[in-house]
Amino acid sequence: MATDIMSMTVDELKGFVKSIGEPEYRAAQLFTWMSRGAAIDEMTNLSKKFRDALKTEADYRLPSIERKLVSQIDGTVKYLFSLEDGECVESVFMKYEHGTSLCVSSQAGCAMGCKFCASTLNGRVRNLTASEILGQAALASRDTGERVDGIVMMGIGEPLDNYDNTVRFLRLVSDERGLGIGLRHISLSTCGVVPRIYDLAKEGLPVTLSVSLHASDDETRSALMPINRKYNIAELMKACRTYFETTGRRVSFEYTLISGKNDAKEDAVRLAKVIRSGMRATAHVNLIMLNEVAETGLSAPGRQRAKEFAEELNRNGVGATIRRRLGSDINASCGQLRLQKLAAEQA
Ligand code: SAH
Repeated sequence: MATDIMSMTVDELKGFVKSIGEPEYRAAQLFTWMSRGAAIDEMTNLSKKFRDALKTEADYRLPSIERKLVSQIDGTVKYLFSLEDGECVESVFMKYEHGTSLCVSSQAGCAMGCKFCASTLNGRVRNLTASEILGQAALASRDTGERVDGIVMMGIGEPLDNYDNTVRFLRLVSDERGLGIGLRHISLSTCGVVPRIYDLAKEGLPVTLSVSLHASDDETRSALMPINRKYNIAELMKACRTYFETTGRRVSFEYTLISGKNDAKEDAVRLAKVIRSGMRATAHVNLIMLNEVAETGLSAPGRQRAKEFAEELNRNGVGATIRRRLGSDINASCGQLRLQKLAAEQA
């Protein structure tokens, strides 16, 4: 079987290039080209002989752009990428005042079963390889012609349910010889796979951990997020504190407001308590308005309710902001384009 060279670190690539008769220093050159999403024939500082060998010995396939939507409002670009087996995943390229950010997917589908989420409706098909996650960043940067300054692992899938490939991706994407995206500019979002949070804390990768909380009591959280039946809020908060203490990186919390489920004043008061007692140090809550997915039957509260919820958190000593919605005209939240494509295939 040909080697998946884009999943390899520069050190691993050294062994590979040597095995096909090339000097070690070629490894970094190859790595740089792949991180830019270059085709083999575009790798002009590599000899013809080397490029021909790559074509036969290496498995180097970038995702291809299946669909691309550009927001007329704010320039957000949403990609539906298709992978070599026809599986599709989404990425979203966003522009902020302080730079650009790319949201990447880590799995085709998701096994976590959160009740409000479009990505999990058809379950998990498979994990993405490190190269398939990196490929999203390489292609988005190439296609937009812009540098990706930051990454959020908040697309389709649960990154900590695809742990090894996720960690490998983090090492590849932050390597200066490739995209060189600083680990401090990378956020990894998880629904709360507690044992893997402890593992991640020990990797020496200073990424921001972003925890999808969405409820402040176990009954509500278990009803919305099945993972909570395995690892409850207390265990999750303990893991978050260890993550903070080990890495020195502040943990942030995501809280999606769902009308009548978790958006009452009491929820805000209890949430503040959970966060203050769990984290001791300051932690921030990002409030997200539910993006309504027809299949789930859940709805978003009004803007005023969200503002009151944020104010209640602030009054109780926890900083909260309501996340700005980019790309609202292109349905830029992840999971929905993939779902549309699956539905079209089944029709
Ligand atoms: N599996 C990871 C990352 C993917 S989802 C996680 O659970 O964190 C990224 C964020 O979007 C999570 O906070 C997730 O709970 C939230 N989310 C999923 N579906 C949503 C929806 N319909 N509306 C608003 N937020 C949603």
